[in-house]
Amino acid sequence: MEPREIIQVAPADDVAGCNGGGGALGHPLVYLRFDGKSSVDCYYCSRRFVKSEQSSGPTDKSSG
Ligand SMILES: [Zn+2]
Repeated sequence: MEPREIIQVAPADDVAGCNGGGGALGHPLVYLRFDGKSSVDCYYCSRRFVKSEQSSGPTDKSSG
């Protein structure tokens, strides 16, 4: 099934909440787990949630 819509979420998010956008096309709020993947599809409305890529950021790795 082709995704109806691509929705970008923060890369730090572990789950994405979707309610179909509300209205007539809406559906009960569900939480979709990424489970380590970079994208997940809503099984209600086929929207695709993709983690936005942020190459640069305030990441500070400590040696260890
Ligand atoms: Zn949905």
